[in-house]
Amino acid sequence: MDKVLIIGAGGVGRVVAHKCAQHPEVFAEVTLASRTLARCQEIAASCPRPIATARVDADRVGELTALIRDVKPDLVIHVALPYQDLTIMEACLRTGVHYLDTANYEHPDLAKFEYGPQWAYHERFADAGLTALLGSGFDPGVTNVFVAHARKHHFDTIQTVDILDCNAGDHGYPFATNFNPEINIREVSANGRYWQDGAWVETAPLEIRKTFDFPQVGPRDMYLLYHEEMESLVKHFPEIRRMRFWMTFSESYLTHLRVLENVGMTRIDPVPFEGHQIVPLQFLKALLPDPSSLGARTKGKTCIGCFVRGLADGEPRRYYVYNICDHQACYREVGSQAVSYTTGVPAAIGAKMILTRQWTGPGVFNMEQFDPDPFMADLGPWGLPWTEMVPALEDV
Ligand code: NDP
Repeated sequence: MDKVLIIGAGGVGRVVAHKCAQHPEVFAEVTLASRTLARCQEIAASCPRPIATARVDADRVGELTALIRDVKPDLVIHVALPYQDLTIMEACLRTGVHYLDTANYEHPDLAKFEYGPQWAYHERFADAGLTALLGSGFDPGVTNVFVAHARKHHFDTIQTVDILDCNAGDHGYPFATNFNPEINIREVSANGRYWQDGAWVETAPLEIRKTFDFPQVGPRDMYLLYHEEMESLVKHFPEIRRMRFWMTFSESYLTHLRVLENVGMTRIDPVPFEGHQIVPLQFLKALLPDPSSLGARTKGKTCIGCFVRGLADGEPRRYYVYNICDHQACYREVGSQAVSYTTGVPAAIGAKMILTRQWTGPGVFNMEQFDPDPFMADLGPWGLPWTEMVPALEDV
């Protein structure tokens, strides 16, 4: 039984706090810290058992180390923003504590995300005998484990992987994002990219579209995006010839995004305005609904999974594994919508894997580097049941 420190009291932080509070057999003591103490206190008051709260600016290594020394956690679960990955990893190293996050490092001034800066910490974590688990959300996270599970139990060789992320939830607003708007819009407005025969192929943003008939949701248009789990998956499974990531968007979302881009509201460089410098995307974030407020209004389901093709016993095989999550059911359980829920539950399970030593090994790791079995066994009981099938479709 261990102590955890959760950093980031947003939509995902709420779910992680609830899940840790629901499982005292793993997380004996839980502290939730964020920049705004009141948000931590509001979440703590909604949890099924008492958890502690604290204030921290996670951009400051000094504040982080002081807090960690005070709380003395065994593991830090970082669910603030990707900008804080490196400061929190640094603080964990200085204080001798394991680390977990759900999104790879991004510099605030550069809409580019890659694992390089975090993988560079491998030796330091290994030397310190500590584990850093990267990307323990749904995608990245569960999708990485789905691929590892497919490889272990269903294939001798994987040839292609398509990650299919559908959010068919409706929050009733013409435009809102289901997780941090700044991170979400930076991701969607970046160039697309997919892996083909050993190299990345770049596309214009949202250039490639397909329709897929999602279980329990029905046919939806989905668009090819670059997504971070592809970088680690093609590294750790070099046999994969083609890997793509697809996400659904409603027509209303895309129309608003196009207009916002055309008028410059998604820019991330500072613009002078009446004697101040403002970053248009940060200003837009201030205008949009707070993702953590969408829970009560969002109805419908998410369906996220992996469509895999390859060889088993010398024969071609197709395999599809996915989770369906209902926004309203999530809200009833923890007060958050399904996008936060599908991220927060795997973060809590990843934390359990480290604390119970089911996933061990000092260094910096992605999810697919560990045995998928214990994680897959916990997914259903902890709230994210999965289904596997041989799809009728020849391809995505
Ligand atoms: P939110 O914006 O709702 O929450 C982020 C929280 O981080 C805010 O509440 C904010 O706290 C806190 N924060 C920001 N900067 C600091 C700082 N310097 N110090 C301390 N706290 C800070 O985001 P989400 O909850 O939607 O997302 C959380 C993370 O999960 C993001 O990194 C996101 O990319 C990731 N994610 C991963 C997914 C996956 O499947 N792998 C899917 C969805 C999200 P405060 O309010 O106190 O200022």
